[in-house]
Amino acid sequence: MAPTTRSQNSSLRSSPAPTSPPSSKCSLSTSSASTPSKYSKQSSSSSSPPPPLPAKPRILILGTGWSGFTLAQRLSSSPISTTHQIVLLSPHRTMALTPLLASAACGIFDFRIAEEPVRRLGNAGQLVKYQVKVERVDLGGRRVWCRAVVGSNGNARLAAADGVPGEKDREGEGGEWHEGDGEFEIGYDTLILAPGSETNTFGTPGVLDCCLTMKSVQDAMRLRESILDCFELASLPVYEEAKKKELLHFVIVGGGPTGVELAAEIDELVHGHLLRIYPDLQGLPTISVYDVADRMLGQFGEKLSEYAMEKFRRRDVRVCTKREIKGFERGVMEVKDEGEVKFGVAVWCAGNKATSLVENLDVKKSEGAMQRVFTDKWLRVLKPDKEEGIVEGVYALGDAADIEGNALPPTAEVALQKAEWLAKHLNEIEYRKADGKGMEEEGFNAYIGRKDGVVDGGGEWTGKGAWLAWRSGSLEWTRSWRRRCMIVLVWVMNKFDGREIARR
Ligand SMILES: Cc1cc2nc3c(=O)[nH]c(=O)nc-3n(C[C@H](O)[C@H](O)[C@H](O)COP(=O)(O)OP(=O)(O)OC[C@H]3O[C@@H](n4cnc5c(N)ncnc54)[C@H](O)[C@@H]3O)c2cc1C
Repeated sequence: MAPTTRSQNSSLRSSPAPTSPPSSKCSLSTSSASTPSKYSKQSSSSSSPPPPLPAKPRILILGTGWSGFTLAQRLSSSPISTTHQIVLLSPHRTMALTPLLASAACGIFDFRIAEEPVRRLGNAGQLVKYQVKVERVDLGGRRVWCRAVVGSNGNARLAAADGVPGEKDREGEGGEWHEGDGEFEIGYDTLILAPGSETNTFGTPGVLDCCLTMKSVQDAMRLRESILDCFELASLPVYEEAKKKELLHFVIVGGGPTGVELAAEIDELVHGHLLRIYPDLQGLPTISVYDVADRMLGQFGEKLSEYAMEKFRRRDVRVCTKREIKGFERGVMEVKDEGEVKFGVAVWCAGNKATSLVENLDVKKSEGAMQRVFTDKWLRVLKPDKEEGIVEGVYALGDAADIEGNALPPTAEVALQKAEWLAKHLNEIEYRKADGKGMEEEGFNAYIGRKDGVVDGGGEWTGKGAWLAWRSGSLEWTRSWRRRCMIVLVWVMNKFDGREIARR
């Protein structure tokens, strides 16, 4: 295809773009094709190019989570959207409002409230969005390689040239994949890396087969279905009491804020709602939180952490600290020094790791369980240790990145702050006018159930005030007035008519 022409006076591009001839395969770039492509043996099906793109400098945003979505939202309503082409690359059609997932799974909100559609960002045609997974980034050649994904909201199903895979393919049982299908490369003037992180199983056998995770709305839906299925099975007349207890044992692995909030929501759902409609199962459900550390909520102050653990114990939520999980088989967790623990549902919330894309990037990264791309305080990606300086035209933010010498936690709060700052900065154009302010660490809060919470930051506080701060955060997390109205409406309906889950 005819390559798109990029403006030569792009103020966002701090070094001239490479000028070697464009690649012969499907390419949306004027940038160099000097590096051999791993997709060079493409089938003819992938050679029909997407429509030509406008001749403007291109900003590529890789990822549409908290940081990528917020950045795109801000850029699309700022002057830069008239002078630059903004392209979003992500496998997902919607962005998950992760802090609302546990509440959605436990029936407080409808699932629609916990996600925002990406394609509604900006005015029609203002942003370009491709539903793809970025397979590789060529920082020297200023281009990335993409592969189309479809199915289950883009959850890792590869598109074939002859259309969307059928049911058989969706179940992973077959289907034909032709090399080169749905693949293309695209050049950039400015690249924003915001691919987030992936669940870290720490190599524990059986996690991905036997546990649920809590990263997306699909995960939240699966959890709700699984909890209800366990209640239905336990209410059948065929099982002994011991088996019913096993079915109604809900295990959460990971005592960080995600695990603790999930345990609190499940406890409230089970004791406040489900046992009213399954009265014969009174006294049988148990909720357990397992963690290898010696306390839950490790990043909070010790007093707050002890407060939360004590509250859980009083409600018969089992707090199992200093426990090493050896592995999982269906319905069974093997715990060091404890042996086999049977469960109905287990949710793995024990940690995150870098995506394979970040792992393969040749840039400066942090050490430790989760490698993060190091940036300076203007969020510019740093070259690897052996070289010095920044990678021109490349920024990174969100869970995937950290500012060297000023570590911030991998939270939505930080991702939002950085995205808002970067949108402003890209518009200001003259670097170094901005000073990186606004990215300092803020307070943490966590819900521990039954109208109680803990807040660490600006002092430590607990109780109803902390719960109110957390609950009102639900309104802040949404990205549109439409969802704010829906949340308020649902709160009122839940108050007077019970949760929707009770009717399913
Ligand atoms: C259940 C849960 C509850 C949470 N609660 C809170 C909370 O209360 N408060 C808080 O501050 N934080 C919370 N967090 C943390 C918060 O969700 C993360 O810090 C935040 O999502 C990070 O934003 P991000 O943009 O870096 O990544 P993400 O939001 O994870 O988005 C990453 C995006 O990149 C895309 N992507 C990944 N790889 C590729 C690729 N190769 N090609 C193209 N696209 C790619 C993904 O599909 C996704 O769209 C919670 C997290 C979870 C899981």
